[in-house]
Amino acid sequence: MQIPLTVRDFLDRAATVYPDRIAVVDEPAQPAASWGEVTYAGLDRLARSQAATLDELGVPVGGRVAIMSQNAARLLTSFYGVSGWGRVLVPINFRLATAEVEYIVRHSGAEVLLLDPALAHIADATDVKHTFILGEDDDQIWRSDAEPREWPGDEGDENDTATINYTSGTTARPKGVELTHRNLWINATTFGWQAGVNDRDVYLHTLPMFHCNGWGMVYGVTGMGGRHVVLRQVDGAEILRRVAEHGVTLLCCAPAVVSMVLDALRDWEGEVPGRDRVRVIVAGAPPPTRTIQRVREELGWEFIQIYGLTETAPLLTMNRFRAEWEGLPAEEQARLLGRAGAPALGVRLKVDDEGEILARSNVVLKSYWQNSEATAEALEGGWFHTGDGGAYQDGYVTIADRKKDVIISGGENVSSIEVEDALASHPAVREVAVIGIPDEKWGELVTALVVKAAEVTPEELIAHCRTRLAGYKCPKRIEFRDVLARTATGKLQKFKLREEFWAGRDRQVN
Ligand code: AMP
Repeated sequence: MQIPLTVRDFLDRAATVYPDRIAVVDEPAQPAASWGEVTYAGLDRLARSQAATLDELGVPVGGRVAIMSQNAARLLTSFYGVSGWGRVLVPINFRLATAEVEYIVRHSGAEVLLLDPALAHIADATDVKHTFILGEDDDQIWRSDAEPREWPGDEGDENDTATINYTSGTTARPKGVELTHRNLWINATTFGWQAGVNDRDVYLHTLPMFHCNGWGMVYGVTGMGGRHVVLRQVDGAEILRRVAEHGVTLLCCAPAVVSMVLDALRDWEGEVPGRDRVRVIVAGAPPPTRTIQRVREELGWEFIQIYGLTETAPLLTMNRFRAEWEGLPAEEQARLLGRAGAPALGVRLKVDDEGEILARSNVVLKSYWQNSEATAEALEGGWFHTGDGGAYQDGYVTIADRKKDVIISGGENVSSIEVEDALASHPAVREVAVIGIPDEKWGELVTALVVKAAEVTPEELIAHCRTRLAGYKCPKRIEFRDVLARTATGKLQKFKLREEFWAGRDRQVN
């Protein structure tokens, strides 16, 4: 027998086995009324109502529904209310500038746009058939008491696209990563299994849910009947408070967020929240060994590292403490945990002649939305090209550099080309190169090297970028140069430009 693997399975199971259990504790400080606590039976009803509303609006199977929201119970529900009955959810980064969102909404062809109240101004800049403000328009989004129409053959198709996640990469414009139900199902179950997700877990949403569907935890935690605790705004002390208040056992975040928690711990009075209970799963950049050691010693939390990309749903590798490392010195243990990890179940990896990490797995994207060229390039030779450089030894991957022109700051990707485009549109800029330089807090800092055509200050150039790009993509540092290193054919030699900032380090990513 073969029945389709669809994301609805996760909610169906929770609603059947744990109907009265609290599924989600919404952020109390949502700008529109918080949903408070919702049970799994309640979450199931809300998802069905949302799907039935989409039926009434005439959104077909395969139709795109974009959503732009900070973490919220309403966003969590939409992963099911939209994808669960065959539509495609497009979760958009809430930090993006209006022009960037307008592009994504247009490119994805979304028929419906759901906006957090704090982002209501986006409505004026986008041209979408139906726009609703979450919270304010709840009676329209969750208006139907009807049962949603079944999606082909009652059970759906696992090869249909469930979400399109836009990600900044090697092109000037973000690309839409099409992930199928099958991709998401396999990621959620292997990730959940290897991270030991179970029905006693209380999961704190420190990671934005838009980022690769919260790495799949919106599905994995639900399927096991775990409890979701929504955090709207990342803050070290607030994370500690919520861990204590809700008995949190599991959270995912970038290394920068781990550092915020460690900083907040200095002023924390009383028992350390979650000691010997919490598992923290970290990815996005290689965490410093010292940070790993501090998490284990000062917080007493289990440190798990994963590596992957939005394009791989995301889990490719996991590094979790092994029994064999038990008697080793703490520093050596932290060093071993500092590697990106060993392949997750069902993932094949290899490193090509140029040192790029390639992967084959059922979690690899179906395609980039309406971009067959980029898809063919990424999947060339039947392997997914990660754009990351590294080593694969003794079953473990270490990320050492990046083949792609991407900067990762605070766990979010920034396309150098996109920032270069924004700067080059200023009349005082003759030439520009954007690179990442190592930074204690954010991992890497977006830095621009500029050859001037006229007098201009760094502040003016940064202000210019702010009108076009999300704040986190704008250069934090601008340096003026007389010339920029180029090849004989005129191509920027980024590795040369980066050299002075990265000297003395054994890896070129941070
Ligand atoms: P995204 O698609 O936004 O999730 O970004 C994926 C990229 O983040 C990867 O291609 C890597 O460059 C980087 N990345 C993710 N996890 C790790 C890790 N554990 N160590 C180093 N880099 C990472």
